[in-house]
Amino acid sequence: MIGLNNENRDPLFGNWFTNSESQFPNHKLMNRKEILSHLKENPQVSVLIVGAGINGIGTFRDLALNGVDVLLIDRADFCSGASSASSHMAHGGIRYLENGEFRLVREAVGERNRMLQNAAHIVKPLPTTIPIFKYFSGIFNAPFKFLGWLDKPSERGSLIIKLGLMMYDAYTGKHRIVPKHKFLSRNTSLKKWNQLNPDIKNTAVYYDGLITNPERLALELILDSEAENSSARAVNYMSLISGEKDTVILRDELTDERYEIQPKLLINASGAWIDFSNHSLGLSTKFIGGTKGSHLVLNHPELRDAIGDNEFFFENKDGRIVLICPLFDRVLVGTSDLKIENPDEAFCTDEEVDYFLELIKHVFPSIQVTHDHIVFRYSGVRPLESSTAKSTSQYSRDHSIQVLSGDWTNLQFPVYSLVGGKW
Ligand SMILES: Cc1cc2nc3c(=O)[nH]c(=O)nc-3n(C[C@H](O)[C@H](O)[C@H](O)COP(=O)(O)OP(=O)(O)OC[C@H]3O[C@@H](n4cnc5c(N)ncnc54)[C@H](O)[C@@H]3O)c2cc1C
Repeated sequence: MIGLNNENRDPLFGNWFTNSESQFPNHKLMNRKEILSHLKENPQVSVLIVGAGINGIGTFRDLALNGVDVLLIDRADFCSGASSASSHMAHGGIRYLENGEFRLVREAVGERNRMLQNAAHIVKPLPTTIPIFKYFSGIFNAPFKFLGWLDKPSERGSLIIKLGLMMYDAYTGKHRIVPKHKFLSRNTSLKKWNQLNPDIKNTAVYYDGLITNPERLALELILDSEAENSSARAVNYMSLISGEKDTVILRDELTDERYEIQPKLLINASGAWIDFSNHSLGLSTKFIGGTKGSHLVLNHPELRDAIGDNEFFFENKDGRIVLICPLFDRVLVGTSDLKIENPDEAFCTDEEVDYFLELIKHVFPSIQVTHDHIVFRYSGVRPLESSTAKSTSQYSRDHSIQVLSGDWTNLQFPVYSLVGGKW
């Protein structure tokens, strides 16, 4: 959650420079070389954040705006992990209602609204359509799901979707900034989307947000933080490799040079790599139960035309929730949710590709999509909390902070691991 709660966004440029006099910082921003020579002479820092995905960047920004001296590092490019491999949704997680994660959904709807308001140049309202093939299915399963007694996805009919959407709307409360959901009859739906599967009973339309350029948003947040606070610095291609007592060793991935940093607090925001990072500090943890998700980007003008400005969010024949979404003049299709131990081994397999191509037929049976329409495929690993649930769809999507400190750690600073967390 990035918490874009800054009221002073520049209305002209749409960014978050908070200096009321101008949108430019009062100090010169350091380039990478300058930051590195500064670190050599000044190894002490209040907070070191490891991992510049959205969790690390959001924390960096909060600390920077609070005047804390903070160093953010990433072993690769900024926003190159799961944060760049998402479905691009600023969403309230309607799907999590059926796992009983009500607090999470309420919080996520609030964050979605903030992103729509404060990052309006990047996050756009997204009409989201659910094609529905049954009226009553899922009613009897819902209570079992809340209680965690049902570990397989099951089909959701109109009635259960209606209940979910009413709750979702209610969470927006008085601060509504997107329209309420509505149900469309079969006829109206088929008139609006004439290539839609004629087997539908009806459709439901509600609103979420589309993060058109997640990487750009991430970079703007970093630049904004550095502009606000001259002692907030971010360096990419810099890895955490070890730590002992009061010192952490970082390695410059471009030159192989080592840097010794002495933080008062280390925030481990390395996503699916959290346990690996803790391990390099001599801490044995099993916080993460990562699941891999892949997407395809299609260059398919007919399909792009058929969906219009709507995301289609639906359950596939196997009960998994999947999506077909407009992304500029392309179509984004996803996603999978597969258990994975080593995040470095995540890639979009041929089986996943076949699954994605097949799911399109479920909703738009008359549109032919082949491998030739694929222009890009990508994969990422959700840094979910380690779980014993049988189905990955039941792994909690909630976030938590795990604190490691004390003599047993062999470190003189505490380590906070940020587990879970979304845009
Ligand atoms: C398929 C998929 C779809 C998703 N869809 C959505 C969605 O639509 N909306 C939404 O809100 N969320 C979505 N999510 C979830 C969301 O993307 C992630 O939960 C979130 O991006 C996690 O951010 P993070 O900062 O914790 O991790 P990451 O973005 O993975 O960042 C961790 C960073 O740590 C760095 N790192 C690792 N080890 C080290 C080290 N030793 N030293 C230095 N740096 C290191 C990595 O290079 C990486 O950049 C999706 C996730 C996936 C996988």
